[in-house]
This record gives sequence, structure tokens and C-alpha cells, in this order.
Amino acid sequence: MVAQRLDGKACAAEVEEELLLRIAACKEKGITPHLAVVIVGDDPASHVYVGSKVRACERLGIKSTHIELSADSTEENVREVIDKLNHQNGLHGILIQSPLPKHMDEEALTDLIDPAKDVDGFHPQNLGRLVQGRLDGMLPCTPSGVMRMLAWAGIETEGKTAVILGRSRIVGMPQSLLLGSKGIDSTVTVAHSRTKDTSLLCASADIVIAAVGRPEMVTADWIKDGAVVIDVGINRVDDSSRERGWRLAGDVHPDVANKASWLSPVPGGVGPMTIAMLMENTVRATEQLNTD
Ligand code: NDP
Repeated sequence: MVAQRLDGKACAAEVEEELLLRIAACKEKGITPHLAVVIVGDDPASHVYVGSKVRACERLGIKSTHIELSADSTEENVREVIDKLNHQNGLHGILIQSPLPKHMDEEALTDLIDPAKDVDGFHPQNLGRLVQGRLDGMLPCTPSGVMRMLAWAGIETEGKTAVILGRSRIVGMPQSLLLGSKGIDSTVTVAHSRTKDTSLLCASADIVIAAVGRPEMVTADWIKDGAVVIDVGINRVDDSSRERGWRLAGDVHPDVANKASWLSPVPGGVGPMTIAMLMENTVRATEQLNTD
């Protein structure tokens, strides 16, 4: 079997088309959606991600404010920025780019963001709503992007067995809650670094979602014929055949395409969906706050 490509770029383009209509409706009321992106330090990958988010805002006509703080800023400096943005009228979304420098408590800072402006969906109030099965709020962008992509491709989830590799607050854990939620109805197993026989768990699963951060860890022998495989991983690996000396690799080996029925590519799969969902959360926050 040769897997169909789960094309996140094409799906994200459709999401953006829908958003343009909602943004136009906001603007008719005199309200322009406005997202603030805060980045602390000089991590090159983070600057690339922030650049993609700012460009998506430009494409859609969402106003963006880019706030850069130096790596030696204090937690108090970030707290002050969050407090100001929380109270800024006409500002609808706040995103603090992860990771923050090691001397900062990222979770404590996330707790300070106004939940109504928490477009990353990481505030305890928003994650708590997800645990309660309330899916109409701010959902974390990467897992909700995966769900949107599955629905877009018409992939059946009801009654399917799913293995999620990874249990992070940002991807694995919310992903497992979404896949197991009422209406989606998969039966979910979450694997992590202490799980035994992970490959055997995967080999019986209808859906495998890899969010680990280990290049090409999931090989074809882990995958059942015809399974759906979603690759969330983004890893930079050395590659002397490329002029720049590196390439991006997912958590899934490309040979899995010979076993799976669907496989999301890296790049061009979950990445564009994450940004599209961030844009959607910003528009949702604007519609709900309804202020300029
Ligand atoms: P984290 O490092 O926070 O979490 C990784 C998870 O993988 C942990 O739960 C860890 O287990 C688990 N893990 C580690 N080794 C194994 C193993 N051998 N078998 C099974 N599970 C294992 O990473 P994130 O969740 O933030 O990100 C995961 C990947 O997704 C990264 O490559 C990241 O770059 C990418 N990513 C991509 C995004 C996109 O837009 N496409 C967005 C966000 C992330 P334990 O809890 O025991 O430590």
C-alpha cells in the first residue's frame, strides 16, 4: 500500500479561506483582529516559527504586534508585558513563544494570560474545559489542527484504536483528550518515555500520532497495514548532501508510506495546520471579546 498524503498545507489554505469571511465580518463592525506575539531570547527555530505566524496574520489581514525581549530579561519583565497586553483594548490574542529561557517558569507565566486572549489554549481554564469535554473554547493549536486535518480528509475516528506517542501539555495530552472525546470516539492509548513495548502497541493501532521529538523513530514495522499515521515531530538532522548541512525530519520514517493508508508529511503536514488553528483562535477571541 502507498499512503495518501495528508496535505496540511492544502487543508490550512481552506481554513484560511473560511477565516477571511469571518475577519471581514469583524471588520464590518469596525473591529480588526489583533494578535500579540512575544518572543524572549534568540532561539533561531523560535524566530522562524514567529516569522511564519506574523506572515499568516499579514495574509489574512489580522493585525500583529511582535514583542521581542532579550534572553537576559527577567520573569518580572515578561509578567509586566503580559499584564499590559491583558488590559490592552483592541488586542484579542496573546501568544508567548515557547520555549522561554530556562530561568523562567513557563507554566506560571501562562497562568497569567487572560484566558479569553489565550490563543495557544494552554491556560489551565482552557485546558480544564477540554478535560470536561467542552470543545467550543480555545483548543491547543497543534492537536486541534490534527483533528481538523483528519475531518478534512474524511478519516473515520469512531470506534478506532489510536496510539498517541508523547504526553506533553502542548501536544500529546490534549491530542489524546480530543481523539477520545464524545463525537470523535476513538479509544486512545498514550505512550511516553517509560512505556514498554511501544512498537507493539502501535502495531495494533488504527491511528498513530507521533509527537515525541525523535527523528524517524516510528519505522514501518511498527505500523499495521492501512493505519493512519500523523507525524507531529519537527527535528533538525545533519545532512551533508544539503547545502545548508541539515534537513527537517519528522518522528516517522518515510518508509511508513509503504504501510499506512494516510501519512502526514514533514514539512507540509501538521506545521501549517498549527498556524491555521492559531489564526482561528485569534478570530474566535475577537468575535467573543467583540471590542476594538
Ligand atoms: P516534549 O519534549 O514536551 O514531549 C515529548 C514527549 O515524548 C514526552 O511525553 C516524552 O515522554 C515522550 N517520549 C520521549 N521519548 C519517547 C519514546 N521513546 N517513546 C514514546 N514517547 C517518548 O515535546 P512536544 O510535545 O512539545 O513536541 C513533540 C514533537 O512535536 C517535537 O518534535 C516538536 O518539535 C514537535 N512539535 C511540532 C509542532 C507542529 O506544529 N508541527 C508543534 C509542537 C511541537 P515523557 O513525558 O515520559 O518525557
